[in-house]
Amino acid sequence: MQKREMGWLAACVVTILAIVLLAVLMIPGRGVHYVSSATLQRHFYLHNGWYYDGRDWAFVQGGHKVTGTRQINGVTYRFGQNGKQILPYKISYQYQLGSGQGTNQPATPKYIILHDVGSRADGQQAASYMQRTANSSQAYTNFVVGNGGTVYQMKRPGTVAWGAGTTANQNAPVQIELGHAHSTAEFRADYQAYVALVRDMAGKYDIPLKLDQGSTNTSGIKSHRWVSQHIWGDHQDPYEYLTRYDVSKADLANALAGK
Ligand SMILES: [Zn+2]
Repeated sequence: MQKREMGWLAACVVTILAIVLLAVLMIPGRGVHYVSSATLQRHFYLHNGWYYDGRDWAFVQGGHKVTGTRQINGVTYRFGQNGKQILPYKISYQYQLGSGQGTNQPATPKYIILHDVGSRADGQQAASYMQRTANSSQAYTNFVVGNGGTVYQMKRPGTVAWGAGTTANQNAPVQIELGHAHSTAEFRADYQAYVALVRDMAGKYDIPLKLDQGSTNTSGIKSHRWVSQHIWGDHQDPYEYLTRYDVSKADLANALAGK
């Protein structure tokens, strides 16, 4: 091959690589990249979308972490100057399950499943019980909300939880329990955090903000009752608990939709 031809070839390869790189960066953010904390500190990324290290979240667009306020999949997110998301609820890792508890299997992002604890347990009691018995009773969720709006992370979102039967579990990157409140004021704070958490997770996993709609093929937010009616099981939560505080299914659907 002549030197001049080699030069042309190299120029072509470089141009094609540049176009591919640009194309990758233009792809709108999709999916959650689970990465190390060191990766989350980086300044440049090849893929757009959410980055998560188990605690902190960032959203990458055009190769860089966004800052300030952003609308993503119908949800408003706030990010600090360092690109880390400012969570719209307070979160505790006090009762988080160990890596040998439950499963680390990734879930297909189709449903977010909503529960309430179904007993007199408040959020902290439910989280503590779950941590002690996740493997022996084969039951846990990714989050428990309670005690005046605290979100207890049990197992990182994106992984299968054992809350609603095998099929539903495998299709739910997020399952959330609502602990029982001791007062109306506490319920209000819990409910606000519950709704904020569901919307936050729905936007991240690109799950529509629609409650209990359609068939099993319809991606969206599902109550455990809907799962029992359409997939498997007999649990009816969380509506009975919510109605004790005058929150109807329509109220919940509107709150989740941001109305
Ligand atoms: Zn349930």
